[in-house]
Amino acid sequence: MRKKFIAGNWKMNNNLSETVMFIKEFKDFNISDNENIITGIAPTFVNLAAAGEMLKNTGVKLLAQNVFYEDKGAFTGEISAEMLKNIGVDYVIIGHSERRQFFNETDETVNRRIKKAIEYNLKVIFCIGEKLQEREQNITNIVLEKQLKGGLKDISREDMKNIVVAYEPVWAIGTGRNAEISDAEAACLFIRNTVKALYDNDISDNLIIQYGGSVKAENAKAYLSAGNIDGALVGGASLKPESFKAIIEAVI
Ligand code: PEP
Repeated sequence: MRKKFIAGNWKMNNNLSETVMFIKEFKDFNISDNENIITGIAPTFVNLAAAGEMLKNTGVKLLAQNVFYEDKGAFTGEISAEMLKNIGVDYVIIGHSERRQFFNETDETVNRRIKKAIEYNLKVIFCIGEKLQEREQNITNIVLEKQLKGGLKDISREDMKNIVVAYEPVWAIGTGRNAEISDAEAACLFIRNTVKALYDNDISDNLIIQYGGSVKAENAKAYLSAGNIDGALVGGASLKPESFKAIIEAVI
């Protein structure tokens, strides 16, 4: 049985005091006892260490929003996998559409980041998804397959056990325009089948696939009731403890 995984991607939101206040409030909501669900938050880099300290022994995972693909050195402004591991980060979000769109991430650099994260024993939330124009052109599956094959190039069967895939149609992120459940389910089934073809039944059956795109408490349960959607990557509705808690409550 695959676990449910609800992850909050804070993007460039929540300063240090807002991060501290969020975690204080969120910690009281004791979900660490529930074995069937993984929860985690991705604060900004500057607040990761403080958040990590506060999240110790809570069961809530610490997520980073990105990682660089080199080990160390003259890469001004970048953060290494070793640095993230060193402060207790559990998962790294890689290939988010905002990274692809605004920071020129390509399937190749996404693949390099995934490999570097895995090398340092970080787990990965690997994001893929089509743009509106691509959906309208009926090439969603072609785009997803290309992103999957590119991002997972030379990733071993063993390493796949540490990767979660987030299906995030770009047109549904931060727009309030969430995908139809049936469309999201069809895309997630396609992702699972593609992973089956690239690896095997066992890897595909155990792969956690999240949907992301305007998820909130009111629609979370419906998404997670679809057979191939195991969780959610949540942006806007993860910024406040009450709304993030409400999503988790809706799906447990
Ligand atoms: C995201 O940032 O990955 C996301 C899905 O954002 P939102 O929930 O705000 O659409």
